Amino acid sequence: MDWAERIGANLAEVERRIRAACDRVGRDPAEVMIVAVTKTHPPAAVEAAVACGLRVFGENRVQEARAKIPLCPGSARWHLIGHLQTNKVREAVGLFEMIQSVDSLKVALEIQRRAEQAGRRMPVLLEVNVAGESSKFGYAPDRLLEELGALNGLSRLEIQGLMTVPPWSPDPERVRPYFRRLRELKLACEERLGVPLPHLSMGMSGDFEVAVEEGATMVRLGTVLFGPRASAVRSGAGDGAEAGD
Ligand SMILES: *Cc1c(COP(=O)(O)O)cnc(C)c1O
Repeated sequence: MDWAERIGANLAEVERRIRAACDRVGRDPAEVMIVAVTKTHPPAAVEAAVACGLRVFGENRVQEARAKIPLCPGSARWHLIGHLQTNKVREAVGLFEMIQSVDSLKVALEIQRRAEQAGRRMPVLLEVNVAGESSKFGYAPDRLLEELGALNGLSRLEIQGLMTVPPWSPDPERVRPYFRRLRELKLACEERLGVPLPHLSMGMSGDFEVAVEEGATMVRLGTVLFGPRASAVRSGAGDGAEAGD
């Protein structure tokens, strides 16, 4: 398989669809960043994606990122998009430019501690489980608002916005209410904090156009760029999960 050829053609089509979605709602396509999700794919795929102009990559497991990132071009920047266990925080702080999946005060406190040791600030998104699915990680909206003050008090965390993985549906219109809810929750957080939060990370291969219409500033795209993943490589806990090891 020729990664560069595949990714180049797919990216052109994705960019066209993002522009069209922006046009429908009067947004500037420059506000929408593609996070290319490379889980299960080899460094050669990242290299080809970088050659196509992609710069920001998402991995959902620290263990996989640890092996992959050193083999990828240095210009690639990495976001963690899967659940983070406290015992992997130290490593995550060393590997990732942003952690999109902060889902508890416990993990935030550990990020604070490890970022301080590393002498850095860590940009983060707060992951929200907007539909209250028991199979998924993420804050319940009420709980997020309760803990927001404590999270915001952590000097080494730079809270840049919210992220969600909504329920899957073959009809992206059915997912729209969840994206809308995340946007409204971001407004509520901004009101509490008294500062704007720049990012809404929402939208995957099946529903990114609807997410863009609802205000996404980051869309996390795997399949639509790289093709289907070998399902055998996925953990049984689901795509968003960090396997316990
Ligand atoms: C795998 C994954 C994606 C990308 O999924 P696709 O449907 O392949 O685009 C996005 N976000 C998270 C959290 C993921 O785990």
